[in-house]
Amino acid sequence: MAIEGLTEEQIQAAAESVQVHKFGGSSLADAFCYRRVARIVTEYAGASDVVVVSAAGDTTNRILAILRASQQAGDTATILLDQLESFQQGLISELLSGELEQQLLALSKEDFARFRRFVAGEETITGDAELLSYGELWSARLLAALLRKQGTRAEHIDARDFLRAEDAPEPIIQEPESRAELLRRVAPFPGTRFIVTGFIARGLNNESLTLGRNGSDYSATLVGSLLNVKQVTIWKDVAGVYSADPRKIERVVSLPSLDWAEAEELARLGSPVLHPRTFQPVNRERMVISVRSSLKVENQQTRIGQFEHTEPRGKVFTSLSEVVLFKVELNDKALVDKLNELDLEPLFAWTEPENHQQYLVFHQNHLEYISRWLEQIDVGNTVTQIRGYSMVALVGNRIQETDQYTTFKLQLGEQKVRRFGLGENGNSAIAILEQQLDSRLLNRLHSQLFNYRRSLGVLVLGRGNIGTAWLELFKQQRDRINQMMDVRVIGIANSKRLWLDYSGVELSDWTSNFDRLARPYVLTELLRELPNAPYDELVILDLTDAKPVAQLYPSLFANGLHIISANKRAGSAEESLYREIRTIQHEYKREWLYNTTVGAGLPLNYAINDLRGQGDEIRSISGIFSGTMSWLFENFNAETKFSDLVAEAKQRGYSEPDPREDLSCQDLVRKLLILAREIGLNLDWEDINVNSLVPEHLQNISAEQFMQRLNELDEPMDAMLQEAAKDGKVPRLLASFSVTDEKRVKAQIGIEYIPEGDMLANLIPGENIFVIYTDWYSEMPLVISGPGAGKHVTAGGVQSDLNQLLARLSAAT
Ligand code: ADP
Ligand code: ASP
Ligand code: MG
Repeated sequence: MAIEGLTEEQIQAAAESVQVHKFGGSSLADAFCYRRVARIVTEYAGASDVVVVSAAGDTTNRILAILRASQQAGDTATILLDQLESFQQGLISELLSGELEQQLLALSKEDFARFRRFVAGEETITGDAELLSYGELWSARLLAALLRKQGTRAEHIDARDFLRAEDAPEPIIQEPESRAELLRRVAPFPGTRFIVTGFIARGLNNESLTLGRNGSDYSATLVGSLLNVKQVTIWKDVAGVYSADPRKIERVVSLPSLDWAEAEELARLGSPVLHPRTFQPVNRERMVISVRSSLKVENQQTRIGQFEHTEPRGKVFTSLSEVVLFKVELNDKALVDKLNELDLEPLFAWTEPENHQQYLVFHQNHLEYISRWLEQIDVGNTVTQIRGYSMVALVGNRIQETDQYTTFKLQLGEQKVRRFGLGENGNSAIAILEQQLDSRLLNRLHSQLFNYRRSLGVLVLGRGNIGTAWLELFKQQRDRINQMMDVRVIGIANSKRLWLDYSGVELSDWTSNFDRLARPYVLTELLRELPNAPYDELVILDLTDAKPVAQLYPSLFANGLHIISANKRAGSAEESLYREIRTIQHEYKREWLYNTTVGAGLPLNYAINDLRGQGDEIRSISGIFSGTMSWLFENFNAETKFSDLVAEAKQRGYSEPDPREDLSCQDLVRKLLILAREIGLNLDWEDINVNSLVPEHLQNISAEQFMQRLNELDEPMDAMLQEAAKDGKVPRLLASFSVTDEKRVKAQIGIEYIPEGDMLANLIPGENIFVIYTDWYSEMPLVISGPGAGKHVTAGGVQSDLNQLLARLSAAT
């Protein structure tokens, strides 16, 4: 094709020897980035290559903010303008020196003077694009100057000088004219690198136009196509296109290649990695596009082109947190015809013939345009706009033939799916969800689709004895556990402060790190934030003894957490709270494990559940469930005073700080409730008959007074001892419940007299014992005994719950 003033050879040379490179805002975020880009342009680009640039960092956003602020009273616009000016001129001063620096500073000051006139209302502009264009212009001018300073021949070009387009939501490029103008500027100058502004073009009325957000990707392929080059390299802050957005999802993988159709579908679905129109101008037989990292040039890159032997495979998982649904009444024929004229394609559309309705889904960014268009064509009530929807999609060749497609559909089953279907040409599976997206959902879907090892974030509440022991244990067991799932402790908290680190807290020296890094927190506020933790699953280890934490269990489940409790307060909560906890747990399909709340590390819950799983029925469980009580009574005899034993237990830390907690049997009531509920019995506090060892007159005094008056316990206790001795028995504090044949439950806690030779009378002080009668163990009970407290056995029990949780979660995939 002849172009006035150019020879055919010149045009041909441009096509064969020139490549196009594009650097986005993130590659030009600061002076350091500019130097890196300048190095790439000299080392990786050829001497006549064309470089397309975006505005530096978030300059476009900043200009938009100034435009918005200028419409409001106050001096926000001026403040923002000052900041932008110092950012831009700071770049110039850091990168250039001498005359070049002065030249560019003078130009920059002129530009900003124009901005100021605009903000002051002294100058009007024809549209936002006029000022937005400066972002790209500044980058192109500065990069060209920096290259020249470094001795590389370079010139900048304002794309508005060659790129002509008709204004539209997607501007229509006037190709022949634009090509001729571009070639005239570039082809006669081999050996000069041209730095071209991305994002902008000139309209038919000479006005500035933009190509839409992230439009520089499109500018780059447009320039490449106008010059008919073979290769366009899009340099980003990512090493190519990944299996998902690395800002949202952990453990993404970089893809070596993508087909045109796949890349186009990804861009069409609004992934920020490529502008939707990037591939429109491309000659697919001739061109290859590379996406690679300007931050780490040595990293892998993704090549987009025409490849042979493409297998059906899901390659990229992408999402939009907000899309808008338009519901169209099909009965309105005039409207349906009109809709064909809308020059925007929906992301997804479907018809529901039974309701005479069609649904069109658009990107949130297009809402304003479509609303305006609808207003213009005056559609009355036959179009309804619906908000609150989101989109997730899996892009890949012939997606329906893949196992991933089935997995995707299956896994979405738990979500509120409004519509699931195939996208354009069968290169994507798209789901429109009637819900918000959170990071955990996205991570879980991604790892299920790409079959990664799934991840579990652990939040440890309570850093007392058990918390400390468990963290030690976890450190030792980590390698083994990580074979099942990627398990990381993401937070450690006491009642006041929390140390949170989503990448996993460093456990080697955690106590001093905790002191340094933990911050005050409020659990309810943390809950709102946690869905952003980038894990497939989250579990809270409640190693506290706090009722307020137990009261939050419903919210914990509702926020998607699993719970492992050593805290007895939830399992033994009053019936109303307990029901609520269970209801929400089931509704949200969460796991709750609490093996250590009765008998610490003893495998009691497992034994009970295993028996019931086999078809056996529990008839009764009785025994000594409290280590403190066991210690007191096994040591109590005619030679000792009960009060001395209580004082000693307190002093050794065997009892609660106020021993009345133990003596009043509250702790036992909790354990009994938990056990009974475990086997499905409806039991509440008032159903348990408790005989406290604390006489009434000692109940309402202070803990100190109680300790001073301990000897008042001796008389009744001695009397008990003597009475029992008459029949050759000893007193023991027993807890028990049994189920009658009529399914009635009898539960009680109190002193019983036990024959001296009985095993209950001969425990090691501190030992717990659980005597279990079932249908099958009816002649001879199943007995589980051993230490029912202690930090190591309890931490081990918590670990056992964690293993159990991992097994269940792995089974659920
Ligand atoms: P530019 O520097 O060209 O303006 P953007 O920031 O607009 O680059 O786009 C690159 C960003 O796109 C990446 O930083 C990444 O967070 C995001 N992104 C979304 N999806 C993907 C994906 N599948 N692969 C790579 N990057 C992605
Ligand atoms: N600077 C423009 C934007 O931020 C265009 C681009 O970055 O591609 O949207
Ligand atoms: Mg961008």
